[in-house]
Amino acid sequence: MPKFSFYENSQKVLDQAFKQLNISEDVVNVLTAPERVIEFSIPVRMDNGKIQVFTAYRSQYNSARGPTKGGIRYHPSVTLDEVKALSFLMTFKCAVANLPLGGGKGGVIVDSKKLSKGEKERLSRGYVRGIFDFVGPTKDIPAPDMYTDSQTMAWMSDEYNTIARGQHPGFITGKPLSIGGSEGRDDSTAKGAYYIIMDMLREFKLDATKQKVAIQGFGNAGINLAKMLMKEGMLIVALSDSKGGVCDMKGIDVEHAIKTKQEKGRIAEVHVEPDKKYGKSCKHITNEQLLELEVDFLVPAALENQINESNAKKIKAKYIVELANGPVTYDADQILEKKGIQLIPDVLANAGGVTVSYFEWVQNRYGQYWTREEVYSKLKEIMNKEFKNLLKVAKKHKVSFRTAIYMIAIERVAEAVRAKITG
Ligand code: NAD
Repeated sequence: MPKFSFYENSQKVLDQAFKQLNISEDVVNVLTAPERVIEFSIPVRMDNGKIQVFTAYRSQYNSARGPTKGGIRYHPSVTLDEVKALSFLMTFKCAVANLPLGGGKGGVIVDSKKLSKGEKERLSRGYVRGIFDFVGPTKDIPAPDMYTDSQTMAWMSDEYNTIARGQHPGFITGKPLSIGGSEGRDDSTAKGAYYIIMDMLREFKLDATKQKVAIQGFGNAGINLAKMLMKEGMLIVALSDSKGGVCDMKGIDVEHAIKTKQEKGRIAEVHVEPDKKYGKSCKHITNEQLLELEVDFLVPAALENQINESNAKKIKAKYIVELANGPVTYDADQILEKKGIQLIPDVLANAGGVTVSYFEWVQNRYGQYWTREEVYSKLKEIMNKEFKNLLKVAKKHKVSFRTAIYMIAIERVAEAVRAKITG
């Protein structure tokens, strides 16, 4: 059990960066609390005829740079603390990518795997009815997150348009292409991380074919990144989902792993040959074992708080790329830094998703649509630029990548806050 909650951990990162920056107390005060937090109930008529009531949240952390933006998560472990922390992360993630947006996040306490399609649709429409007054293309723009997808966004978009009596595609992003989605949104989070990893290979002079990669979480983000890295010749040696994982130090065929996951529902069914060095135990591994493998790149792509005080000392990877949000706790961060592990923080590593979400919103508002190539090229430009920026600031101030990225983001948000509060 981590010492601090997810939200407390996020806030501690701020303190580190504030120390390096000359920011007034007024601005610090504004940045250390969410602007608005909404808790509401969604009554849903279940297929058995009974009403079940679900608890839902929306947190709008800071809108100084523009309308708040962030996904909606369906998960049994959703809490207000988590939603607040994620909205905090979104504020700085949007600033890291230099998007004219603030940060928000939503969630519903639900095990969506247990819902029928109809129940999920009624829940999603109920969510929009619950927050209608506080969201919209110029206020707060939701998107998918864990266990919500383009279908969920389509229902939510339709509900919003029905209540608003008009077409407002810019209300929500991550929609299917047929109703205003963007090309390239499907694999944008992974694509952003992929551009960063390619930059790392160049910067640290690493040979792609010699890099061993372990990825925890085999969903949208994890699967797409695994495919992209395998294409570059990197060795994907371990993969996992919520039911466990597999490891093969000679490399796992990602396409085969995807097929197995689709057919058998779990990555742990993938057949791997026992490795001489690691022995039979490496055939099937737990999520804990995956994190502690001797690899070059470790990519947490599932839940938060996965690397914490209890396992940080055992991490052997040289580089960590935080594809998930908040997978490393504050205490673990200090331990990893002492061990000399280079870590690309979530607010940059997974910013590809929100960046293409922003592109979708721009296209919706223009009524003009870009090709996949145009989307990728605009995304690459942003990721390359901000990675270079990160290296520059970390070097100049002799701070960790985490502190450096927050220095960049806080300075951008603070500038907007200052412009508004000092008149
Ligand atoms: P997803 O729902 O598509 O996949 C999640 C994966 O994590 C699944 O394979 C699931 O089995 C696995 N998982 C769940 N609990 C686990 C556990 N305890 N241990 C190991 N694996 C577990 O979700 P996603 O969209 O791929 O998102 C993954 C992470 O990336 C989340 O932290 C999310 O906030 C972050 N993220 C996603 C996007 C996006 O656009 N998809 C954008 C930014 C950040």
